[in-house]
Amino acid sequence: MRALNVNDAKQPMFDLSPFDLPMTDPRHPFHVEHMAMALDEARAAQDEDEVPIGCIIVSLERGVIASAHNQREMLKDPTAHAEMVAITQAAAALQSWRLENCVLYVTLEPCPMCAGAVVLARLPMVVYGAADSKAGACDTLYRITSDPRLNHRAKVVAGVRADECAAILSEFFAEKRRLGKK
Ligand SMILES: [Zn+2]
Repeated sequence: MRALNVNDAKQPMFDLSPFDLPMTDPRHPFHVEHMAMALDEARAAQDEDEVPIGCIIVSLERGVIASAHNQREMLKDPTAHAEMVAITQAAAALQSWRLENCVLYVTLEPCPMCAGAVVLARLPMVVYGAADSKAGACDTLYRITSDPRLNHRAKVVAGVRADECAAILSEFFAEKRRLGKK
């Protein structure tokens, strides 16, 4: 057997090519990079004193077509979740309500409303960061995005940068409690 040499580029000791990972793997760099953008949106929400959740929608043909964060307080609208705002943006960008060949990235597992909107928009894939034990509707409380009784199902990839996505939320609520006690 030929000895492996780390300096031999043609035969590296380890294959570090990250794109060998399947798209269902939360470590896939396509997911990690786009979740970074969703995290930037979550930070923008935090700066506006909104619950910090961010969402990005990527068209596999056109790139990023929506970038949004939770705006429930500013818009005084219970439906202004990051995903809803992003889905509206993406549909406007594509001039179509069908978001085919698009991937939705969101820092927190979608709630029943947003998971329902994913089905209505025919999104083929949803990628989320932290699981939501209180309202998660892709895996945790309900499985709306993969319910065979509905007329569309989305692939779900969970746990992309989950620690960072959860930390920004827990820090936000810890700060709220701290200020509340003053
Ligand atoms: Zn929602």
